[in-house]
Amino acid sequence: MNFNMFCAASCCILAVATFAVGCLSSSGGGGGSGGAFATGDGVGVTGDGVGVTGDGVGGEFSTAQDADSSSASTDDTASDANSTDAAQPETAAADAVVTTASDKTVASCPDGQFSETPANPSGDIKSLVAAFTPTAALTFIGQALGVRYPLGQFLLTEGAKTKMGGGKNCVDAFFQASQGSTAAGALSQASTLVHECGHLYDIGKSGAARMYFINEKIQFLCAGLSNQGTNKSFARSLIKADAYGAAWPACANFGMQGCDGYAPIYLNGNPSDTKFESGDQGYDMLLEEVTQYVNSLATDYAFASQSQFSTSAEDGILTFLWYMTRYLHLARLKYPSTYKYMSENECWRRATLTIWGRAWFYLEKTKGNAKLNLKGKMLRGLVDHVDLLDEIARLRQIEGCLVP
Ligand SMILES: [Zn+2]
Repeated sequence: MNFNMFCAASCCILAVATFAVGCLSSSGGGGGSGGAFATGDGVGVTGDGVGVTGDGVGGEFSTAQDADSSSASTDDTASDANSTDAAQPETAAADAVVTTASDKTVASCPDGQFSETPANPSGDIKSLVAAFTPTAALTFIGQALGVRYPLGQFLLTEGAKTKMGGGKNCVDAFFQASQGSTAAGALSQASTLVHECGHLYDIGKSGAARMYFINEKIQFLCAGLSNQGTNKSFARSLIKADAYGAAWPACANFGMQGCDGYAPIYLNGNPSDTKFESGDQGYDMLLEEVTQYVNSLATDYAFASQSQFSTSAEDGILTFLWYMTRYLHLARLKYPSTYKYMSENECWRRATLTIWGRAWFYLEKTKGNAKLNLKGKMLRGLVDHVDLLDEIARLRQIEGCLVP
């Protein structure tokens, strides 16, 4: 099977067939690129084990907010969360299952019908923070997630049960103790840990079909659309040559500024050569990244009040929504048999619509929060392209959920 290895910056995880591949990149630059990532190679095809090796850790991109930034006034989530911590312990818990209205979703369809108990940035973690000790940083992260984002706590705990190559689990591989000496430093790693452990949880549950664990009530187990095997899909790197990438050109190399810094990590390689790289993966792992970048956003949303930095939380999911719709567009125009399968197969169609809906469920909550994006406004503009939104509309049409 394909042996999959690449390292962008400080870490790398390998994949062999059923193995997950994940890499994290870390940089202090504010180039709007980077973030947690993992890739996989045919994970859902053979399902005979999971192994990953990790040799380092990284984190999201973050940048200090400008002190004179006018955007501070829009940072309502961050500013009210601290005060709520002090004033309303426990009572602010939002445990009602809700939907979120968005002009990117349709109420009668799986995207608009998506609902869950949202992450709660007002959950009281004051006593946990006060009792923080560096030696118990991981326990602290789990407990804080339990208060503000229980789904993230579940993924952290359960994902860590899937061993990676070398015997490490997602926490061993991605937690940076050197940056966990304060409560804020520990919580700044929560989104990466949830993202990576989310991958490992899905990989551990994937066999002949790929698992997408959305929340405790919604999971998809869909067959095909890997880079190989029955109903395979094309390499995600091929979207780089489409008509839409020019609006935010792919960086040629990791670490460049003023370009799409996710591309050299996720859209690299050449599907025609013999070397298997991240960008050679198909739609199954593209959708897996979308799934985990929503979890990244939800986690950073939950803990934005604890950080003085802005993160790429929105940038990751917006980039991947842009990739996902571009992939659908390219599939429909150039790979009709693949498109027929991905759009007419109920599992894939509903998974795509549901994950799109969950992304907007959180993106509506984080909109305008300067702590949760580096280039959010620009990236929202890229996703908001009539041709690309039309691809989601076409899935709704096939789903038959549109009200006449
Ligand atoms: Zn990932």
